[in-house]
Amino acid sequence: MNSQFKNLQQLLDFFKDEETCKAYYEQARWNGNITCPHCGHDKVYRTNRGYKCANKECYKKFSVTVGTIFENSKVPLRIWFAAMFLITTSKKGVSSIQLSTQLGITQKTAWFVLHRIREMLARTTSTEPLNGMVEVDETYVGGKNKNRHKDKKVPNSQGRAAKDKTPVVGLVERGGRVLTFVAENTDQETLHQIIDNNCSDEAIIVTDAYKSYVGLNKKYNHVVVKHEEGGYVVKQGQHKFHTQNIENFWSIFKRGYIGIYHYMSKPHLHRYCNEFGYRYNTRELTGVERFENAIKHVSSARVTYKGLIGK
Ligand SMILES: [Zn+2]
Repeated sequence: MNSQFKNLQQLLDFFKDEETCKAYYEQARWNGNITCPHCGHDKVYRTNRGYKCANKECYKKFSVTVGTIFENSKVPLRIWFAAMFLITTSKKGVSSIQLSTQLGITQKTAWFVLHRIREMLARTTSTEPLNGMVEVDETYVGGKNKNRHKDKKVPNSQGRAAKDKTPVVGLVERGGRVLTFVAENTDQETLHQIIDNNCSDEAIIVTDAYKSYVGLNKKYNHVVVKHEEGGYVVKQGQHKFHTQNIENFWSIFKRGYIGIYHYMSKPHLHRYCNEFGYRYNTRELTGVERFENAIKHVSSARVTYKGLIGK
């Protein structure tokens, strides 16, 4: 794809009208092999407004956006693309107020667009089990004092998660992906379940000394980094074990929370986590590549129309 924009203005110049956006998205989605989203048939006719399936059992009409987050939206693709570029490339995220100002849309529309993109970004991350060295740590979001620092971590203490905060569990494969999970609590069963569901049996799990991680050694090679002993790195032979990657991830997340969003409601919290996770997982890519990768996944994600409207 020949899209060499480096900033919002260049992107808006590149996607100068809806036709350009549709042509771009047709290429990104089907790469020359337009396929009927209703029946999978690969012979289609072009119509004035889109396509028509050539399978006589089907004959359905469809547009380039059918089965995607763009479908049935009054928001022009140009605005969707601009929002997607901003959210995938801004270090700490983009608020709906910022987006509405930058793109000339209402804050309500901006809010909707951003959440749909966050939802979609979750599908861009592979759900294959994490392997190798996997750092696991939780953070706590919300509560009355929004600028409060991360709870001081005291092993074997009930006070780790204040009652008014929502825990989020993060897992980072060393040199690889981060996965995040909004959790009801951080008891042993919950944390072990998340780790079991997302790590291969051969993974080496690295955590701090929080009591809920006790017992992981029954199944995994479990390395405990005890912060209160001043040793943030555990050395075993050639290997250095620490939880700095997941802690760095939470630190960027918190900077976005404090600097950009100020508040993340619990029902939407997982979507904000998706957003920060996407940027972390594409950290080696340039801005345009992050955008193109997101666009590519919009189309490869198997979203059915029924799935989208929740039937
Ligand atoms: Zn068809």
